Amino acid sequence: MSTVSRLRKNKINVQRLADELEKTSGAKKSYLDERFWKPTTDKGGNGFATIRFLPTLTEDDPVAWRRMFSHGFQGPGGWYLENCPTTLGDTCPLCQENTKLWDTGDNSKRNIARDRKRVLKYISYIYVVDDPSVPDNDGKVFLYKYGKKIYEKLNNLMIPEFPDEIPRNPFDIDDGCNFKLKIRKVDGYINYDKSEFAEPSILSTDDDFLDTILDQVKSLDEFTAKDNFKPYDDLKSRLTKVLGLEDRVEIEPTPTYVTVDDTPAMVSEAVSEPTDTPKPTKSKESKGESTSESDISYFEKLANTDW
Ligand SMILES: [Zn+2]
Repeated sequence: MSTVSRLRKNKINVQRLADELEKTSGAKKSYLDERFWKPTTDKGGNGFATIRFLPTLTEDDPVAWRRMFSHGFQGPGGWYLENCPTTLGDTCPLCQENTKLWDTGDNSKRNIARDRKRVLKYISYIYVVDDPSVPDNDGKVFLYKYGKKIYEKLNNLMIPEFPDEIPRNPFDIDDGCNFKLKIRKVDGYINYDKSEFAEPSILSTDDDFLDTILDQVKSLDEFTAKDNFKPYDDLKSRLTKVLGLEDRVEIEPTPTYVTVDDTPAMVSEAVSEPTDTPKPTKSKESKGESTSESDISYFEKLANTDW
């Protein structure tokens, strides 16, 4: 039998190959949270979609978003992609480290602190009105993680800056507004400036259809629940590993701290850094060589994170 026919006869089933790979890499199936919608951008970094922010269903908690701090950076020992406990007012080992670096006044150290700083994100439920890149998403309910820029636009609609503008509740199903998400790449960063709300409109005149939409809206509390944040010691040991300091002196906790983005004038004025796009975007493409289980999970978490 020729080599080629032997190869054909013993063709490896692709599923078996996947099973073997999974065995050897120890990779878990998927860390992607498919409940989240992400806008699609083309190669030039442009994207467009129409979405509608959905209200919460509990009268005692009308706030239809949750705000969360997280960190995302790559160190010599891998990725640090963790929710920041300062979200809940708790102490964060990385924010402590950043404060120390910041307080040195040394510019290069301050740059390191900037790269690792906590990033503010908001989470809401949305209804996808029109997603031209993935039409399959149209008419579906998702969670959506967004940054400061989009939050400001929501805020400006609710609390307008000028007296001739009527305050609107973007989350209202009857007279809220569709949101036209317009994404561009400006100076290498994702930019949401052109995004805008459409004129007020009813989400749907069909109450049964509205019911099917609203039935999919759940509580957002899981994101700010205590168990969504690792304990201080776990974060500290992860940080030590990521920084490649495992064999060196332990990072000392300091009793009080100020998180870097609370320090005066540093990011907002001194650096023209787009708020919705912190650094790790770059590294997203350059996946490392290591394929340990934790790295794979980190990459997948990264892919699921809208930095
Ligand atoms: Zn932190």
